[in-house]
Amino acid sequence: MLLTRLYTARAVEKYESYDESFAGVGLGTRGQTRYVRQNMSSKILRQNHFAAWGTARYHPCIMKLVTLLPLLFLFMATLTATTYAQIPASQKREVEAVYPEAHALYLDLHQNPELSSHETQTAAKLANRLRNLGYEVTEHVGGTGIVAILKNGAGPTVMLRTELDALPVEEKTGLAYASKVRSSDDAGRDVGVMHACGHDLHMAAIVATAAIMAHSEDTWHGTLMLIGQPAEETIAGAKAMLDDGLLRRFPKPDVAVALHVENVLPAGVVGITPRIYNTNADSLRITIYGKGGHGSAPQTAIDPIVIAARTILALQTIASREVKPQEMAVVTVGYIRAGAKNNIIPDQAEMGLTVRTNKDKVRQQVLAAISRITKAEAEAADAPRPPLIERYEGTDLVYNDPALAQRLRGVLESALGKDHVVSEDPITASEDFSYFVEQGIPGFYFSLGGADPEKLAQAIAAGTTLPSNHSPLFAPDVDPALSTAIEAEVAVLRNLLRGSAEEFRKTIAAGTTTAP
Ligand SMILES: [Zn+2]
Ligand SMILES: [Zn+2]
Repeated sequence: MLLTRLYTARAVEKYESYDESFAGVGLGTRGQTRYVRQNMSSKILRQNHFAAWGTARYHPCIMKLVTLLPLLFLFMATLTATTYAQIPASQKREVEAVYPEAHALYLDLHQNPELSSHETQTAAKLANRLRNLGYEVTEHVGGTGIVAILKNGAGPTVMLRTELDALPVEEKTGLAYASKVRSSDDAGRDVGVMHACGHDLHMAAIVATAAIMAHSEDTWHGTLMLIGQPAEETIAGAKAMLDDGLLRRFPKPDVAVALHVENVLPAGVVGITPRIYNTNADSLRITIYGKGGHGSAPQTAIDPIVIAARTILALQTIASREVKPQEMAVVTVGYIRAGAKNNIIPDQAEMGLTVRTNKDKVRQQVLAAISRITKAEAEAADAPRPPLIERYEGTDLVYNDPALAQRLRGVLESALGKDHVVSEDPITASEDFSYFVEQGIPGFYFSLGGADPEKLAQAIAAGTTLPSNHSPLFAPDVDPALSTAIEAEVAVLRNLLRGSAEEFRKTIAAGTTTAP
């Protein structure tokens, strides 16, 4: 079985000094695994191809696309009409039956977003609905987390997860249902709050899926475990739920499933990435110490702003000069804070970094290089103290069990139409679903298209991109993204919730290639 090692070192990482915290990173032994990188031109073609289809299905105004992609469009429209017609009418009907309520819930959640770890109203809304559907619901698991269980005879236990939290982003989409919510963040700052990552769509989908599953118990058996996880955006919620006994107080899942909406795929389409789905993420806070003084007399001071500036530039050489060109590594300095007045040299400067890698060896190398460079720059400037380097957040890459991915690709192709399931490259975003997978639970994390197909095609034609997740302009094309999410989830759950638990484990274990 893959990934059974527990990352117990995480518990002690926060606020530790550099050397201690890096010792405690708990880097895994997983090496890079093989995965297919599609070349860019084929990806763009593919996106155009789905955009053309999506437009044909959902948008009456197709002239622009026809101009852009006439032959592809005609070809795809014919092909798609065939595949869509093959999808059982009963499946379409059961989604249509729950869709109005799902859409209303989406609008409600979108207009009432709550920040990470403060998702009290959100969790209560989900808990009430799931309870009314007959699920056994436990609230306040790991803070505001919820666990909803529906037992339906013997069989595997399958976990489906949604996140609950929104982001400190002021919405600028101009949509009629845009969020106007403002709130105090944990540092006491007044911030706009928005579901800029699409977790509202995930929640609306999971409740609709829950309804369909509860009303069709003859189509599956086993234990369905739905979880509403708080604080995904701060990489705290999955760990909090595990620490609060998620796998002790409730049945341990045989498999964990989640999806995420994104704007690089057209709505109506899902994306599968076997093996490595995303990246390891490390959040660092670096404090550089100097000696304060008068801005007119720099010789009496040691300027931490200058040290920070040199450090930031030197850090750019890690990915470009130290890491092997075939490997991926991202080192971004996302903020720098120092000083209060133009004629004062401050005595310290703080900066925040995010580091992304997808191999443990490279992760170690990059973190070590950051430490070496930061310390050396401070020493070169004769700083009074070595810098403080804190790793205050971190998560490992999400690994998609290849056997599961292969099995569920076929399931999704049958449910959505073969043309609506694509392969995707790994992405550089990160998320804490990996905490569940690392408990020895095979995981399947897939992408849900959220882009308006017509706008996506226009963006691709213009060589630009649509606003990504976390942008104040992020606005998924709810219809059909939401109905596709429901169809996909129901199909995946029904496929997994059959046979016996032992059989299921054997099948997955047999097909699983252990990550090196
Ligand atoms: Zn996010
Ligand atoms: Zn997200």
